[in-house]
Amino acid sequence: MEIDDVNTITVLGAGSMGHGIAEVAALAGFEVRLRDIEAEFVQDGYEQIEWSLGKLVEQGQIERAAADATLDRISTHVDLAEAVADADVVVEAVPEKMAIKREVYAELEAAAPERTIFATNTSSLSITELADVTERPAQFCGMHFFNPPVRMDLVEVIAGAETDTETLDLIADLAVAMEKTPVRVHKDSPGFIVNRVLVPLMNEAAWLVESGAATVEEVDSTTKYSLGLPMGSFEIADQVGIDVGYHVLEYLHEELGDAYRPCPLLEAKVEAGDLGKKTGAGFYDYDGGDGAQVPSDQTRDDVAERLLAVLANEVAALVAGDVADLDAIDTAVKLGGRWSDGPAKMIDDAGVADLLATLDELHEETGEDRYDAEPYLRDLAASGAGFHGAAGDGAADDTDGGYDYDDITVEIRDRVGHIMLDRPHRMNTVTGDLLAELSDAVGRCEADEEVRAILLTGTGDRAFSAGADLQAMAGGVGDVNRVAELSRRGQEAAGRLETCEIPVVAGIDGYCLGGGMELTMGADLRIASERSEFGQPEHDLGILPGWGGTVRLPRIVGMGRAKEIIFTADRYDAETMAEYGFVNEVTPNDEFDERAFELAKQLAGGPPIAQRYTKRAMHRGWDDVDAGLDVEAQSFGLVFDTEDMMTGMAAFMSDEEAEFEGK
Ligand code: NAD
Repeated sequence: MEIDDVNTITVLGAGSMGHGIAEVAALAGFEVRLRDIEAEFVQDGYEQIEWSLGKLVEQGQIERAAADATLDRISTHVDLAEAVADADVVVEAVPEKMAIKREVYAELEAAAPERTIFATNTSSLSITELADVTERPAQFCGMHFFNPPVRMDLVEVIAGAETDTETLDLIADLAVAMEKTPVRVHKDSPGFIVNRVLVPLMNEAAWLVESGAATVEEVDSTTKYSLGLPMGSFEIADQVGIDVGYHVLEYLHEELGDAYRPCPLLEAKVEAGDLGKKTGAGFYDYDGGDGAQVPSDQTRDDVAERLLAVLANEVAALVAGDVADLDAIDTAVKLGGRWSDGPAKMIDDAGVADLLATLDELHEETGEDRYDAEPYLRDLAASGAGFHGAAGDGAADDTDGGYDYDDITVEIRDRVGHIMLDRPHRMNTVTGDLLAELSDAVGRCEADEEVRAILLTGTGDRAFSAGADLQAMAGGVGDVNRVAELSRRGQEAAGRLETCEIPVVAGIDGYCLGGGMELTMGADLRIASERSEFGQPEHDLGILPGWGGTVRLPRIVGMGRAKEIIFTADRYDAETMAEYGFVNEVTPNDEFDERAFELAKQLAGGPPIAQRYTKRAMHRGWDDVDAGLDVEAQSFGLVFDTEDMMTGMAAFMSDEEAEFEGK
């Protein structure tokens, strides 16, 4: 079966996950049959979908008519045979109990058509064991959504021992059709990727406190401010529920051995019923106290090392065990854990050899299994390499026809330095690291004799950039200096494009929002596909454009339009933005790539010296008309003394294309 053959999806279980999965499936245009064991339960799930769709309308994410059409695509059922009669795919989200699920699959096998693919949303149970109950283990796999499915982009697609590739491809395509990012998990190894990486990290945080090596505040300060994770380890445990992580740990312990023995500190919290935010108390006090107040000034290098060492060991185990490849791990943890960097990069930055030494020391000291280093980690350290090949800090290295970075990609072709924001799984949202890489790449293009124009685009098919990575920034809430610093860095990156001596074209295909749109304000020209959507949504979030939008936008579209765009926080289509003078050209969607490159190539063929002086005069004249005119007059004098001028004149006279050399 191919994705185009899928029309109907049956979701079993209308609880927390089931109703959310049904909602995203219906939003994607599929006919959805939602089934639970009691009419009341399935009705509750349906009402939750109705509520959630209402929220999406309220937030301007979908139109009322789309919400109504989505609801119309969902039918509710108690009778299993009726619910699966025309199902192409069944996604099962019934309680996480082997006995219940086995019973459900036995019944399902009898009721479902032969062609139907079964996908389980289990978080931990063996997919192979569940598939065994059915007569179609090849048509059976894991489809692990994260909570809440409507907001979380990640779906782990997990192979059971007998799942065939066609099934995995179909379920991955289905996730994409639901606008999710699928990552492949090659084996149904306990915890798959996200839980296997995040939960042992929470355990290690607890062991640090249990052993007296650090306080809760020190561990959280380090996780949040030194490692740059969106929350402190204990803060997140409180958010998710200490019991949730604890039960995953118990399961990992059972299946994988003593390295995953739950720390007594977690056990004590669970036994006392202090499960975190939902019970009013966990590691922080939410009822009487201030909740999680993570200090920014209690970071400790040794705590960071120890957490990263355990992280490195988990990642090494996943890769060496062929559970998942590195890219899948990075994507899964970034999306599932809301990390701004993938674990492999963080480990490489810290240095594999150093982390291995930390593990070895701890193992020697404590004899604990969780510090027993994976042989694969030793091999990496011995080879001097990191997870991502070359050892070290992810520094930019030259490659043929481009430069290497982590969050952007740079290709050089036809004298165009094509810089791509390359975080498609996060709609190319911009982090501090990405800003630094972008500024660096602009400088390198400018200095590179092979490059005469820059084209800035986003990878993936959804966005140029959906804005600043708010999750990465959330760590700065309350830290005025840190947030102001990030604003300055965003302003500088847009300013770097503006002051760059070669022409810059922003090619916009898809969402171009907030900080993403502000970056394009630094470009000289903007070209957009028809489907692109623009907006400065900051006022909806109670903030304001912080990467130069308040100053640059009025200069491009005039004060009246700029105020309209910023104050309404509305979305604008490409045609309207062209009418406003923000976009220079709108292209059909399927011609966008070619046309954007053509435009950049055209500018790369222009006279470099005249272009450079033109940019200088225009920007100088923005602040100060007289100064601008002065720069223009001086530049005019200077260009008359260049070879380019002679070349241009000669070409003009002979009606040929000039070959400017920038001399
Ligand atoms: P839940 O308890 O909220 O919902 C389960 C629903 O299944 C209930 O409405 C129950 O009445 C129904 N049910 C019970 N037996 C049924 C049957 N025979 N047929 C149809 N429905 C039946 O549970 P949940 O949190 O939605 O979890 C469901 C699955 O998703 C579990 O496997 C869980 O591990 C997994 N999961 C949960 C989360 C999470 O954060 N909650 C995240 C990812 C995956």
